[in-house]
Amino acid sequence: MDLYSVKTYLKPSSLTEVTGWSADQRWLAGGTWLFNEVQPQVKSLVDMQQFDWTEIAVSAEGLSIGATCIQNELLAFSFPPEWTAAEALKDAVRELASFKLSHAATVGGNLCLALSASTFAPVMVALKAQYEIWRVEGEPYSVSAADFQTAPQKTVLQPGDVLRKIKIPRESLEQWQTRFKRMAVCTAGYAIAIVVTAYNPHSQQVRFGIGGSVLAPCLVEFDVLPTPEGIATALQEKTFLSDERGSAAYRQHITGVLMKRGIAALSADVQDERRY
Ligand SMILES: Cc1cc2nc3c(=O)[nH]c(=O)nc-3n(C[C@H](O)[C@H](O)[C@H](O)COP(=O)(O)OP(=O)(O)OC[C@H]3O[C@@H](n4cnc5c(N)ncnc54)[C@H](O)[C@@H]3O)c2cc1C
Repeated sequence: MDLYSVKTYLKPSSLTEVTGWSADQRWLAGGTWLFNEVQPQVKSLVDMQQFDWTEIAVSAEGLSIGATCIQNELLAFSFPPEWTAAEALKDAVRELASFKLSHAATVGGNLCLALSASTFAPVMVALKAQYEIWRVEGEPYSVSAADFQTAPQKTVLQPGDVLRKIKIPRESLEQWQTRFKRMAVCTAGYAIAIVVTAYNPHSQQVRFGIGGSVLAPCLVEFDVLPTPEGIATALQEKTFLSDERGSAAYRQHITGVLMKRGIAALSADVQDERRY
């Protein structure tokens, strides 16, 4: 789509070349969203392509993903075999369900766009990722995935802030098994609930990254396999979205169902979700 309001296009080779920031400026990553809608409020685009923030880096601390890493690169990447939870990152790409999008869109673009249906956000929450944020002016800072998004299409980013990388601790990647569950009201439709279940069979700990149904992606965790009552109680504390796709009560119910399905798929002790 032609963004008729855009008068300036900048392509800096590093962040230090960007000086000042105005309310009508936007970072341009893959452009799959920016060029998909009329953006009358946008007058200037700052293309991040030359920043070369595309790394997928494995280290003793864990995994680091550059913000402009193309989503599909995660599918092709060979993670250490003991990093069982890395499968959730691949699921985030597969569940996006669009070949065209995942070959052009970036991981950071998905998180910063902050759609309620983001497939990456609940994965990052379940894996306890930290986001490193750089600023055009000021010191970089770090924020947890669970605190990054505050509402649909709203994040803690201030004007001129840019997501630089996503860091996932090794502890979250090793030993945890994951399942990605997504529900929409029609095939390939917009998600009304997403639950990423992470289960550690050694400690019996369970973490849920919840998206799609709630005001903002959130973490629900248990030290032992939760009971159905425990799941229901945890969900009562959350704020659920309500729109033409589903009421808050419906989304809350479906979220609980997906949590139970996630556990049933992962735990030998709970092979049948109907036991709940
Ligand atoms: C028709 C359609 C349906 C979609 N449905 C889904 C869906 O169901 N689930 C889902 O998860 N996604 C969905 N998407 C979103 C898709 O995943 C996004 O288009 C994509 O992730 C955005 O990535 P991008 O790199 O193209 O970002 P861009 O389009 O370049 O940017 C998106 C926004 O994020 C900002 N931004 C990008 N990178 C950064 C950064 N590093 N720091 C700060 N701000 C940044 C930009 O300024 C812009 O505001 C859909 C998109 C389309 C077009």
